[in-house]
Amino acid sequence: MFAHNKRLQYTVRVTESNPGLANLMLEQFGGPQGELAAAMRYFSQHLAEDDPGRRDMLIDIATEELSHLEVIGTIVAMLNKGAKGKLAEGIDSEASMFRDISGGGNDSHVTQVLYGGGPAYTNSGGQLWNAGYIDTIGDPSADLRSNIAAEARAKIIYERLINCTDDPGVREALGFLMTREIAHQQQFEKALYSMQPNFPPGKLTGVPEFTNVYFNMSVGDGDTRGPWNSAPTFDYREATVAVDGGSGMPEVSMTSSELEVVKQAALRQQSNPGVDPVTGAMLGMAGASASSNGSSRNAALADPQAAKTLAQSSADDGKIQK
Ligand code: MN
Ligand code: MN
Repeated sequence: MFAHNKRLQYTVRVTESNPGLANLMLEQFGGPQGELAAAMRYFSQHLAEDDPGRRDMLIDIATEELSHLEVIGTIVAMLNKGAKGKLAEGIDSEASMFRDISGGGNDSHVTQVLYGGGPAYTNSGGQLWNAGYIDTIGDPSADLRSNIAAEARAKIIYERLINCTDDPGVREALGFLMTREIAHQQQFEKALYSMQPNFPPGKLTGVPEFTNVYFNMSVGDGDTRGPWNSAPTFDYREATVAVDGGSGMPEVSMTSSELEVVKQAALRQQSNPGVDPVTGAMLGMAGASASSNGSSRNAALADPQAAKTLAQSSADDGKIQK
């Protein structure tokens, strides 16, 4: 069950109306790194988790994220409250009202005209929140890593939002929310490393001959060596084709009836490199004369024997190579 306390997890003190700033704050209300996404992410992971420690941690953090949603949503509502009242009561001239709600230079119609100043489940650009922001895959070694990255991104967004305002109360509340993402990142890391082994994710190990190889796939100035591509962890190799020792050419076995129709389609769609056909573009070129050499092209195009000769390269042994 959920129970609610009417007081916030952190006191919100907003100095003055600022609808433009409110819009920026929506990034952490209904954006991909925002509190709703975080709460839903950990809530659903908790529902499917069997490990008692992780299950408990996930619902504690999910519930805290809902409390953060309440804090950031309250910041949005407080920043909008003055403008909301003025818009609702129509007290200013139209031009003055427009200046007022877009004073921050942002698209404040998102919060003011469309949503009446209440926090909307959108990001700061008006993009609707969607469940695609939840990247849970149902394996703790993968999900905890994803949660760690999500907390890192949320911390960065809060840092940027703090840099966008000089309102001391807003900065203080955002500083709390940012700090809690640092705490969550550490909690998820501890949970990940409390599970041994946790790498590679899942149960299957990688193929040994490729697990610790670094392929230098982009060659040229700028090739740089570091621990990410060097001993003792990595064997540094230049790019080669068919590292498995095979031909590097794809193959597939087919039934004789499949093979027959595949060859039939290939024959029908065969291109003829021996002709230079007249095209619509050529006909439209200034000074072009389609009749000057068009007849020989048309003759080649119409030669069924030439097309048939070109088409005889299809494989006939039950394997198609490309
Ligand atoms: Mn949070
Ligand atoms: Mn968090």
